[in-house]
Amino acid sequence: MIPAAAPLPLPEAPARDVEVLLSAEEIARRVRELGQEITAAHPGGELVLLSVLKGSFIFAADLARAIPLPLRIDFLGLSSYGGKTETTGVVQITSDLTRPIEGAHVVIVEDIIDTGLTMAYLLDNLATRRPASVKICALLEKPGRSRLPIAIDHRGFVIPDRFVVGYGLDFDERYRNLPFVGVLDPGAAGRVG
Ligand code: 5GP
Repeated sequence: MIPAAAPLPLPEAPARDVEVLLSAEEIARRVRELGQEITAAHPGGELVLLSVLKGSFIFAADLARAIPLPLRIDFLGLSSYGGKTETTGVVQITSDLTRPIEGAHVVIVEDIIDTGLTMAYLLDNLATRRPASVKICALLEKPGRSRLPIAIDHRGFVIPDRFVVGYGLDFDERYRNLPFVGVLDPGAAGRVG
């Protein structure tokens, strides 16, 4: 007989420097709803989930499994922060799509829209590749911060203007493996950086 597995400890000690904002259960429920929304809105034809790395990799994995349609998943590496908690405004493609998206219905899967600068850059870039349509699915939005208006088609949660980590989001490459989204204690951010 196989012995029952002991519960795994959380990958990071949450109480120490991260305060829970959205629990794993709340996120799972909302991701299922977003999957239903995207499924219902899909016009037919080729569907491509375009996951913006690195922050959306966990969200994209869960979202893909909540969409019961044939689809492709591709990844685009974008970087705009470089180890800081404020955007530099300079966006870099760190790795490109593996296949063309011409004629495809693309759903961009993004972790968070803050100032909108990254998404505006991405929309301009994708338009040159002639997709049939482009929709935006963002897990989180910090609306007070928007510098460029972005029309989000599928939105998970609106959150306050705090720097958050977990569920794929990092600070200086840490905390991505937290199963929840939490607010990073500013003191901890200083210590880690
Ligand atoms: P924007 O260009 O909209 O200001 O920023 C978008 C990108 O900045 C996101 O894809 C994400 O990588 C990063 N970002 C913005 N706000 C946060 C945050 O609160 N926490 C983390 N970890 N990254 C953020």
